[in-house]
Amino acid sequence: MTTATKDQLDVERIRADFPILATILHAKAGTAGVPLAYLDNAATTQRPRQVVQSMVDVYEKHYANVHRGIHWLSDQSTDLFEEARGKVAAFIGSASTEQVIFTHGATESINLVARSWGDANLKSGDEILLTEMEHHANIVPWQQAAARTGAVVRFLPITDDGRLTLDKFDEYLTPRTKLVAVAAVSNVLGTINPVQEIIARAHAAGALVMVDAAQSVPHTKTDVTALDADFLAFSGHKMLGPTGVGILYGKRELLEAMPPFMGGGSMIRRVTTSGFEPAELPARFEAGTPPIVPAIGLGAAIGYLNTIGIDAIHEHELRLTRVAHEVLTAVGGVRFLGPDPEHKSGIVSFTLEKVHAHDIAQLLDRQGIAVRAGHHCAMPLHKRLGITASSRASFYFYNTTEEVERLGRALEEIKRIFRRK
Ligand code: PLP
Repeated sequence: MTTATKDQLDVERIRADFPILATILHAKAGTAGVPLAYLDNAATTQRPRQVVQSMVDVYEKHYANVHRGIHWLSDQSTDLFEEARGKVAAFIGSASTEQVIFTHGATESINLVARSWGDANLKSGDEILLTEMEHHANIVPWQQAAARTGAVVRFLPITDDGRLTLDKFDEYLTPRTKLVAVAAVSNVLGTINPVQEIIARAHAAGALVMVDAAQSVPHTKTDVTALDADFLAFSGHKMLGPTGVGILYGKRELLEAMPPFMGGGSMIRRVTTSGFEPAELPARFEAGTPPIVPAIGLGAAIGYLNTIGIDAIHEHELRLTRVAHEVLTAVGGVRFLGPDPEHKSGIVSFTLEKVHAHDIAQLLDRQGIAVRAGHHCAMPLHKRLGITASSRASFYFYNTTEEVERLGRALEEIKRIFRRK
């Protein structure tokens, strides 16, 4: 028996909005096949019909370039695009829509800050403080910025159970620290980091904070104003939206002082043969034709998430995470990466004694269970944990306890197979 006996969300009704979740895999002549259990949501989520339809509607009825044409269709498209920006701003508690920049994903958002703010503000000897649990998207852009400017990248250590060593934070936060870049939720450990406290302590030491919220905005309430975040980045495709759209939120005074990241159309007020004058926010950072339809799709995704309720989503995922810990513990030989369920999001990464992560993922796939295997774009973290790869099951509100229990049964079977070898 597991602790979660009943899903409080009406998951069956929700799943009806996601046709892909009804997929039957590996059906061959004479066999029924197995139902898909999609447990790879930290990589990317699925989209409900409503989000797909919102984009079809734009293409069929409202599509033109934005902020350009002086014609009816362009006005329609521009209104929908800007409406989507408003939905994003409200969803993350931004005081204004101008502070919400459409990018092509969290990776681009972080690169934008590393290039634009980094090159203008970092100098030799300055320090950028990351943590040992960062995704490569929140490591490499800073290493590149350090290489350009002479700044130094440092890493706040983690504990063996995958939490930040905040007792060491003040030691790592020196007068040379110009920026702290930290994931709100680790994409491997699932650890929910105390971002509010990190920001307050960094600010007290005179450093800015970039929050990598790729794994938190889709799952927990985010209020950039209450957090006092300087920059915050996330991707649409991890929260029911399409690929190709992401967000950079930034404090107005910081964004206004930053040089444009890319040059081109839309990001200028005036261009002459001798130079250019950048546009106001947010256009200043949106060079070229933006991801118009993906942005509108992201707006629809936020509308869908709002009908479910972000707190209910978080609660449901916590229940699934508790179940996952129970059933995986019962398998035996499982090492969990990261803390207990009460301190993490719906991400459960693990290793299984004597079985490689890729074998696990392949054998689970035969049972219709989709998980991720490898280093999950977090090689320094895996090195810190003394492993090269792990398996990761990651949940969203459309997953069921039954799917998690199937994961447990399938792992028991895998363990039996490898014991026989
Ligand atoms: N940061 C974290 C914590 C992530 O998990 C990911 C994606 O897995 C990213 C950044 C990069 O997101 P994207 O590939 O959508 O740009």
